[in-house]
Amino acid sequence: MELLENRIKEEGLVLPGGVLKVDSFLNHQVDAKLMMEMGKEFARLFADKGIQRILTIEASGISMALTTALVLNVPFVFARKKASVLMSEPAYVEDVYSFTKQETAHITVLKKFLPAGEKVLIIDDFLANGEAALGMARIVEKAGSTVAGIGIAIEKAFQKGHSRLIEAGYHLEALASIASLEDGKVTFTKK
Ligand code: 5GP
Repeated sequence: MELLENRIKEEGLVLPGGVLKVDSFLNHQVDAKLMMEMGKEFARLFADKGIQRILTIEASGISMALTTALVLNVPFVFARKKASVLMSEPAYVEDVYSFTKQETAHITVLKKFLPAGEKVLIIDDFLANGEAALGMARIVEKAGSTVAGIGIAIEKAFQKGHSRLIEAGYHLEALASIASLEDGKVTFTKK
């Protein structure tokens, strides 16, 4: 998606350890118009999948899951990363190791917000080693639903998440695909 690639080129900061910082439009300050365009693009890419619900993870997946849900006219739910007294009802919980925080989170979704038998689209901001996406996929499958697709804003194709998701048989779409962050430079995957 050219619009997103241009923003990454203009505002993305490459940090040590293969991390891209995009906090001026996605991870801290959020560009709502860009999120709307990304939602339209996700909706277009998964238009023929019969999506009935969207699952994402807090915090940065929420803005793009919201706009995708608006366009597809379906509900969306986000997995929480921390348990809370508000989450004392029956829940699906999966361990997910965070690439950026370097700690394991118990990601949690209340069962009542993931009915069985639905086609679910998983959305997230970044794909690195695939931990978050695979954790959400396990939750969808435990709920008795189907992962109809995985939509990622920015995938880092040089990490193993891309191949893990493809090998697991999921339909993966990334709006921007980064081949390398070497020498502090963003190089996109050739289309
Ligand atoms: P994975 O679970 O695929 O290993 O990593 C994806 C998760 O880690 C995303 O939800 C995102 O929050 C975070 N993440 C991974 N790599 C990056 C990165 O380069 N930049 C930012 N901002 N977040 C990242």
